Amino acid sequence: MATGLSKSAITENIMVGFIGAGRMAQAMAKGFISSGLVRAGNITASDNNQQCLQILQDLGANTTRKNQEVVTKSDLVVLAVKPHIVQPVLREVAPIVKSDTLFVSIAAGVTIESIESNLPAGTRVVRVMPNTPALVSAGASVLTKGTTASDTDSELVKALLSSIGICEEGSESYLDAVTGLSGSGPAYAFVAIEAMADGGVKQGLPRELALKLAAQTLLGAAKMVLETGKHPGQLKDEVCSPGGTTIEAIASLEKSGFRGALIDAVEVATLRAHALG
Ligand code: NAD
Repeated sequence: MATGLSKSAITENIMVGFIGAGRMAQAMAKGFISSGLVRAGNITASDNNQQCLQILQDLGANTTRKNQEVVTKSDLVVLAVKPHIVQPVLREVAPIVKSDTLFVSIAAGVTIESIESNLPAGTRVVRVMPNTPALVSAGASVLTKGTTASDTDSELVKALLSSIGICEEGSESYLDAVTGLSGSGPAYAFVAIEAMADGGVKQGLPRELALKLAAQTLLGAAKMVLETGKHPGQLKDEVCSPGGTTIEAIASLEKSGFRGALIDAVEVATLRAHALG
């Protein structure tokens, strides 16, 4: 797995395992396979839920009910169980972990220290904080390397995570704020979409049309920020004609404390993530 190779060359023969074959594992496996980064036959997933395993089987992956089998077969193991299941799973698999297996945890709030301390000394760990839009290949993830993981490991995980959205690297100390921003953020956007649609309905639009317009408007605005590279303030200025409708609405949002409400939302979610971690 040398750096400087193309992404597909980096991952071509890699054996990937998932412990836990729920929603996130399914989304990741789909992304890895459809992007051509990992062969379906090189994936093994374990779960005790047959319906979840069937979804992985339908993708062409191998499945098992034995977590240890996943670890035996894989170069990279994704821990995709709920946070409180991570420790028991690590204790279960630790005795058979090979020295060259890379562990990738996506469990919210589970620290690198607690993962490393439950695995043989020196085991390479990468922690990732993804978000729900990963389920529709529009996720935003931040990864952080454990004490012995290499730059090649983070490059590999970044390449894989990029198949289900964007992936950035940052310090573990960022992850509570990442949880407060992109982890919880989809819910803020859902509330905004619902409220904008309510506004449209109040002004006489049919509900279905209002909802579609609200969702597409947030999607389009987000794409403009990401694709033009322009500051959102500049984009806002560009749609506010003097004496026009949009500046009227912006003034109303400012009076209602719209910016402050969002800043506070990120802050309280960050504090909550810290308290839970
Ligand atoms: P999920 O409940 O859909 O999947 C978890 C799976 O683990 C289930 O299918 C369950 O049957 C299986 N499982 C339970 N005990 C097990 C065991 N002992 N061995 C093997 N499998 C077992 O959950 P999810 O939404 O896919 O979340 C997985 C992880 O991803 C969580 O730790 C969560 O914090 C993290 N995460 C999820 C999201 C999200 O948007 N869903 C976002 C950020 C982080």
